[in-house]
Amino acid sequence: MPEIPDLEAIRHYLMPRLGGLTVARAAAPIPWLVRTGAADLQTLVGHQFGEVHRLGKFLLFFVDDGRILVVNPMLTGRFHWVEQDAKQPAMLGVVLGFDDGHELRYSDQRRMGRWYLAPDAASIGTVPQMEKLGPDVMGLEEEPFVAMMRSRRGQVKNTLTNQEVMAGIGNAYSDEILWEAGIHPHRKGSTLEEADWRRVFRAMRSVLEDAIRVVDETVQAEGLGRKEEWRQHLRVHRRAGGPCPRCGGEVRGQTRGGSETNYCVTCQPLFT
Ligand SMILES: [Zn+2]
Repeated sequence: MPEIPDLEAIRHYLMPRLGGLTVARAAAPIPWLVRTGAADLQTLVGHQFGEVHRLGKFLLFFVDDGRILVVNPMLTGRFHWVEQDAKQPAMLGVVLGFDDGHELRYSDQRRMGRWYLAPDAASIGTVPQMEKLGPDVMGLEEEPFVAMMRSRRGQVKNTLTNQEVMAGIGNAYSDEILWEAGIHPHRKGSTLEEADWRRVFRAMRSVLEDAIRVVDETVQAEGLGRKEEWRQHLRVHRRAGGPCPRCGGEVRGQTRGGSETNYCVTCQPLFT
């Protein structure tokens, strides 16, 4: 699932490439992905995109007439920037063709992604899921974070990944952040001291800033295609059975509802 570092890299990659190009064709081979109506997509023809922003796990493509194309790739949405005669990916969901022969393609194995065309910036708050979106993680400061977390009693991992609490962190980076902070993902918020939350905040900053840099370098060098490389730097997520990079102990894994949680029992004790 794309999280902050992945989406930042995608937007850095696409923004300069889209600049100055005009949409020549638009199609939605999987029409229901475009929640505001696949026919709506046709109204992009003749227009250009300006800035590409990220808010939580959403990408926002600003259209030259003030509209905003809002995309949430959910679990398996992927972007492709290719020449129009390039081989089509499986589960091709949306295609925007540009006047220089490039195509921005979106494929989605599980077809869960969501596209919306919002009439203006003021209305993006009405996009489903965005209505209740918490503050973006990268804009959070330590004091408000600590103040906000002290009333959170549920399991720490659930809190970090709850988009209504704060937006942008998912399954992979919550594992990385909690490993860095030495906090077990299933610890109840009510058992954490203020110093623990401060450690979580600093880990959140350092893990995400490092990952943004690493993923960005990979994507700038390799393009959007080789997504398996985007997660090679992770230290515990999807590393069950391997050694903890800090203590050498075994990284554990638990799967719940199809998503895996990984941690080191030595570095991240459940009971303190
Ligand atoms: Zn360890």
